Parts: sequence; C-alpha cells; structure tokens
Amino acid sequence: MKRALNFNAGPTALPEAVLKIAEKEWLNYKGTGMNVMEMSHRSKPYEEINTQAQALLRKLLNISDDYEILFLQGGASLQFTMLPMNLLEEGKKGYYALTGSWSEKALKEAKKIGDAEVVASGKDNNYTTIPKLTDLDSLENGSYLHITSNNTIYGTQWNDIPSNLNLPLVADMSSDILCRPIDVNSYGLIYAGAQKNLGPSGVTVVILKKDLLERSKDSLPSMLDYRTHAKNDSLYNTPPTLAVYLLKLVLEWADSIGGAEALETMNKQKAALLYNEIDESNGFYSGHAEVSSRSLMNVTFTLNSKELTDAFLSEAKELGFTGLNGHRSVGGCRASIYNAVPLEHVEKLAQFMKDFRTR
Ligand SMILES: *Cc1c(COP(=O)(O)O)cnc(C)c1O
Repeated sequence: MKRALNFNAGPTALPEAVLKIAEKEWLNYKGTGMNVMEMSHRSKPYEEINTQAQALLRKLLNISDDYEILFLQGGASLQFTMLPMNLLEEGKKGYYALTGSWSEKALKEAKKIGDAEVVASGKDNNYTTIPKLTDLDSLENGSYLHITSNNTIYGTQWNDIPSNLNLPLVADMSSDILCRPIDVNSYGLIYAGAQKNLGPSGVTVVILKKDLLERSKDSLPSMLDYRTHAKNDSLYNTPPTLAVYLLKLVLEWADSIGGAEALETMNKQKAALLYNEIDESNGFYSGHAEVSSRSLMNVTFTLNSKELTDAFLSEAKELGFTGLNGHRSVGGCRASIYNAVPLEHVEKLAQFMKDFRTR
C-alpha cells in the first residue's frame, strides 16, 4: 500500500514507525489482552503510559522540576480561555502579540475573561512578518505576555523570543513544539494541541511553572483549574487514553532519532528545499512570509494567477500530494512539513515544484 505524501496542516502525518508499533500492539498491549482504549485509566499499564509520556517530554524539552506537565482536553482553543481564567490577575492585563488568526482568537477569548491588550501586531502587514516587540519595559501591570510561536496559517515563526521580561511569557506552540530545542525556563506557560507535532488530536500539552499555580482561584470550575490536573497527574477525570498512548509513542520515536536537536537539523533541511525552490523561481512562486520570519513548519506561497494555482494544486493532487491548499482565509498554497513528514516526501514536492515551473 502506498502512503500519502501528506502535507496536511493538522491533524497530519504521524511517523510510520509509530503507526506500526500501534498496529502491532492494537489487540494486545504488552500482554494485557486489551487495546489501550479498552483498559482502565487507573490501571497500572495506563499509569505507566501517562508517566512515561511525561518523562519523555521532560527529557526531550529539558523541562526542569519547577514545571508541571499536564495532558488536557479541549484543544489549544480551550487554553485560550483557561490561560486567562487561571493566570490573569485582578486589576492586571494580559498582553498579546498578534501574529495571525490563532493569536487573534486567543485575544478574543481573553477579553471575555478580563483585561487583555495588544502590544504588537503584524496585521497591517497581512501577517507576513513577526512584529518587533519594543518598549517591553512599558508592559506595566501585566499578568503575562502571550505569543503564538508559529503561525500555522501565515507560515511565520518567532525566531527571537522576547527576553528580559518582568512578566511570564506564554506561548501557543501548537504548530511548532519540539521542532527545535527551546529554553523552557524562558516561559511561564507553554501549550500545544498534539495534532501537529506530537501525535493525534484529543490531547493538549500544557507546561507551566509551578509557582504560577498560586494565581488560580478556588471559584474556578474544577475542570478549568490547572491545579486540579496538576494535583492529580492529569488523571482527575478520564483522560484521552488512546491519544496519550500515541503521544508517548511519538515521543519515543523523537527520542530514538536524536531528540530536538536532530529534529531541528531535519526540519531546517526540509524547509530549505522548499524555500530554495521559491527563491530560485524568479517570482514564479512567491512566499507569503518575509525571509526573516519564515516558518520551519508551514511553507506558504502563491503562484501568479488563480488559474496557475489551481493547475498546480490539481496536478499535485493527481501525483499523491495531499493538503497543499492554503488555509481558506488566505488562499494559495501551504506545505506543512511537521516533524513526522519524511525528508523524501519534501524532496518529491520540491522536485514537483521545479518540474511544474520549468514546464
Ligand atoms: C491548530 C492550532 C490551534 C487550534 O488547536 P485546536 O486543538 O484545534 O484547538 C491553535 N493554535 C495554533 C497555533 C494552531 O496551529
């Protein structure tokens, strides 16, 4: 059977090695006679999966004991709400850098909870660049500063994160977590839906500094209070067991191939193949993102006319490439090349882009 050349924006490709292990363990997980989906989340084998997934993430991102790792439900979108509910303090502000549709949504939800303000925005430039954050000293009376580390729809990514802040930095890393090493100590909280770089949809990873838990108030609904999940090792209620199991397998795979450093090397190599083709095409393909803000994960580009774009996409589809349509809000083309997308698939796409252009 031929696997798709999968460039979906999310959910998207999982490592084939992971799917094969899951297939092998499908009917009988480690001698239990059950699929992971069929066992109690209070059982020993499941508790091990939960613990191992946490430990692997801690290792891969070098997360210190000052941080909790939570596996939650509701997607990154629920974090747009849970974050201000827990961290936005009375009489203080949540500051937001707008770099695309996801940060706009995060801001919109925060405003429903409390006082949220935009500190920088790339909107006037149609989100082609990551805006410069200046005057960070003037971020007075803030509870946190929120950024979206990679902008899935526009194809831009933060390369230099704000530093020397006097308030916690919060990042939505849904579309680039584990694409490269990061210094977790620079952040107060990181959240990411798993379905782009970490596994299937259904589980959302939250990494948060333990001292920030003090901000949560007893009036919060239990399920929306980070303390509930921290205290109970993300086993307060029934977790998405199958998703956490697959997350664990993806993290084992990432570890086995060399972790965040190795992934960064591969991701840079993959991204360069596509950006080089765009740059060498003399405007046949034009990239949406400015060079300094280009994403390693989502390569966005357009062709000169709608007819050409349509022809490109339909030929690509015939050849087995999937998911190359740009997001409905921006159009054009987008190749999402997350961790699990093999180099060979990106080579094939770069070759196709070149062939199409030459013809
Ligand atoms: C995909 C995505 C989301 C939405 O995640 P859900 O899990 O569907 O809520 C949020 N932020 C970013 C940056 C994304 O790429």
